[in-house]
Amino acid sequence: MKEERLPAAYTAGIRGMLGQEADAFLESYTAPRTQGLRFNTLKSNSASGRAAAEQSMAKFGLKPVPWCPAGYYYEEPVRPGRHAYHAAGLYYIQEPSAMSAAELLAPLPGEIVLDLAAAPGGKSTHIAALMQGQGLLVANEIHPERAKILAENVERLGISNALVTSAAPEDLSRRFPEAFDRIMLDAPCSGEGMFRKDPAAVYEWSPEHVELCAARQWDILQDACRMLKPGGRLAYSTCTFNRKENEEMISRLLDSCPDMELICEKRLWPHLEKGEGHFVALLRKAACEETGQSRRKRSSGRGKAGPKLSSAVRDAYQQFISWAGEELPGFDGQGVPLLFGESLYLLPEAFSSGLHTGLLEGLKVPRAGLHIAHVKKNRIEPAHALAMALQPDQAVRSYDLAAGSLEIESWLRGESLPVPAGLHGWTLVTVDGLPVSWGKASSGQLKNRLPKGLRVLKARNEMQ
Ligand code: SAM
Repeated sequence: MKEERLPAAYTAGIRGMLGQEADAFLESYTAPRTQGLRFNTLKSNSASGRAAAEQSMAKFGLKPVPWCPAGYYYEEPVRPGRHAYHAAGLYYIQEPSAMSAAELLAPLPGEIVLDLAAAPGGKSTHIAALMQGQGLLVANEIHPERAKILAENVERLGISNALVTSAAPEDLSRRFPEAFDRIMLDAPCSGEGMFRKDPAAVYEWSPEHVELCAARQWDILQDACRMLKPGGRLAYSTCTFNRKENEEMISRLLDSCPDMELICEKRLWPHLEKGEGHFVALLRKAACEETGQSRRKRSSGRGKAGPKLSSAVRDAYQQFISWAGEELPGFDGQGVPLLFGESLYLLPEAFSSGLHTGLLEGLKVPRAGLHIAHVKKNRIEPAHALAMALQPDQAVRSYDLAAGSLEIESWLRGESLPVPAGLHGWTLVTVDGLPVSWGKASSGQLKNRLPKGLRVLKARNEMQ
């Protein structure tokens, strides 16, 4: 894109900020956009995942992203998003600069972490991978339709310890004061770093829009601070370049919240690093001596024994556990069961130790932890999310299809497959050892249980 197509007020702001370097920055708009993928270490650290990742490296010509060990660049025309490994959750397509934010936040296994503006899920899936399935991730997205996409991505990547909510930040901050060890706020912004990827973003930009974004960011940022535990860390990030939405937002926070301190601010510029550009600030809340008020506030939501399980939940969970005892001998079924209609979920353990399920009342929760089953009268239908979160050796039966084969293509289109007559019952279907869905085998046919919304409608030549 030529400089003349950028808003004059925008280029003036860039020139004011970068001085002589502005020419190099503006020149970067004429280069092609950078594309990346991040391996999902929840999958790529298993033996089959490692082999599939090696295959992907060679096939897609991947080159490492310096600031993210699991991140790689790829160049057009390869389309990793169309490969069966994508359906298997082996990787997430993510703009490389955006990978810097979760690396800086550095969540640890076992922590309680919030991603406050999470859809479509780039940072949440990165955080979940760093947490290695331990602890609790609350991935929140205010817009319900986007929250559904977030939930699908959480499911595709086989994340078992995430709760997906769809709430306004102020609603969450009332429910979860000082509840989180780490918080990611990847704020809605004026998107100056999107101009190369999405030229339509240029037309939405105006100085007034920048002001509007900054006002909204300020509100969300204050809610984020309220939810941070003393001693906790907050990453604030945007994909925009102006100072109003970045450094000035952080200075304002530091001025008005003396208990917040800045650890570092990082900028990735598209003319200096290979990426579309990103801003990330890492902050810490002082682990000061607790005031009576903050102690009261924090204890109001936690420490209570979880509500007693109703007999319906207990029965459904028991039914699942006995089914799993036979079908999934390697699955431990740990967590707090929740039942919505026929859908049985397992909430992460944090809901039996620190938090309680009452906090979720009245909240939109597209995914209350791991969806494990549909509990029908006298039978269990295992949920798709459960398939994606399993290792193949945890299931009694699995059926493997090779990447690039006609069989995996038909399977991802939702077709049934002929199988040996001896195969009978719920079967975990895998591509090169990575789960893609359930199938149900009987009389030499493997019936396809890939959810309809995830089926590929047209032939995908690029899947080879
Ligand atoms: N973190 C996401 C990722 O890595 O995939 C991208 C998040 S995007 C930059 C910002 C998100 O904030 C959008 O999904 C948008 O719907 C959401 N959002 C918009 N207005 C909001 C508000 N007032 N409060 C909270 N989130 C909001």
